[in-house]
Amino acid sequence: MTINILFSAGGDKWATYEAPLRAALTSKGLNHTLAPDAGPPERVDYIVYAPDSTLQDFAPYRNCKAVLNLWAGVEEIVGNPTLTQPLTRMVDTGLTHGMVEWVTGHVLRHHLGLDRYVGATGGWHDLRVVPPLAKDRPLTILGLGALGAAVAEALVGLGFPITGWSRSPKTLNNVRCLAGDDGLREALSTAEILVLLLPETPDTTNLLNAERLSWLRPGAVVINPGRGPLIDDEALLAALDEGQVGHATLDVFRVEPLPDDHAFWSHPRVTVTPHIASETRPGTACDIIVENILRSENGQPLLHLVDRSAGY
Ligand code: NAP
Repeated sequence: MTINILFSAGGDKWATYEAPLRAALTSKGLNHTLAPDAGPPERVDYIVYAPDSTLQDFAPYRNCKAVLNLWAGVEEIVGNPTLTQPLTRMVDTGLTHGMVEWVTGHVLRHHLGLDRYVGATGGWHDLRVVPPLAKDRPLTILGLGALGAAVAEALVGLGFPITGWSRSPKTLNNVRCLAGDDGLREALSTAEILVLLLPETPDTTNLLNAERLSWLRPGAVVINPGRGPLIDDEALLAALDEGQVGHATLDVFRVEPLPDDHAFWSHPRVTVTPHIASETRPGTACDIIVENILRSENGQPLLHLVDRSAGY
């Protein structure tokens, strides 16, 4: 039997993914067709997908067994009423490692006060500020999923006291895990560095508003590689101007690319990175896609299935 796979993603992803996806399919002995145009929609078995695709009407793909998203975030398609097929999101070791490295780098920049020394040319005594040890720098991570839990583990390894917050209660080694509305206030009030690794859903939009920013320790650093709408931009700018937030390192924004005239670009205590915290890595992601096709063909539950009602 031949499995018909439609690859539907924008940009140059077909050129990037074709070879590793074919190799992963072949290595599992799967007889397949794989193309950006897989013929009549009713003959498509699986769609390998990214939300920047032109395909937005899934109704004609009535025999499709799963839509396999190449991105971790699904906020752009989870509410699509034509998408009734099972939807999976990307959890990939390459994506996870990338996020761990990006967050760790930016946490250490702020923890060690590296900005003081980069480009400094003198003033020995002015420069001599000995940073505290990680054990004395409480850090909170909102979101303890695939990425948040991996980041927490790495930062625990460096000695940071970590508080994590999620929707459902969790148990993670050496992480103080909190959940629910009460847990959020406690999680924020202890944070000197706050990392946002929540998905964008109706419940998380504007989660970090003026009131909740005021719960942070004065001068706290906010690091957001999650999604732009998690933060109320105006409230963050006000908190930065008041000194309630000492610095914000932002990788994701309500509008991307971040418009040239946005206040974040010129604010002295904002660092903008252009949504590069972590990318899906084709070499490892294709193994996950193929693993899910195999599972589906064998009648096993799909990995990383999106919960439509929760929105992630
Ligand atoms: P995930 O495995 O789905 O984890 C999401 C976490 O957020 C879970 O712990 C979940 O709680 C928690 N959560 C969701 N809604 C919540 C709510 N209302 N209140 C409290 N906690 C809530 O997702 P992931 O793979 O870790 O990815 C997280 C996000 O990172 C993605 O959605 C995406 O937006 C972003 N991302 C960004 C980049 C980048 O380059 N900037 C790259 C990849 C991903 P439960 O554990 O209870 O379900």
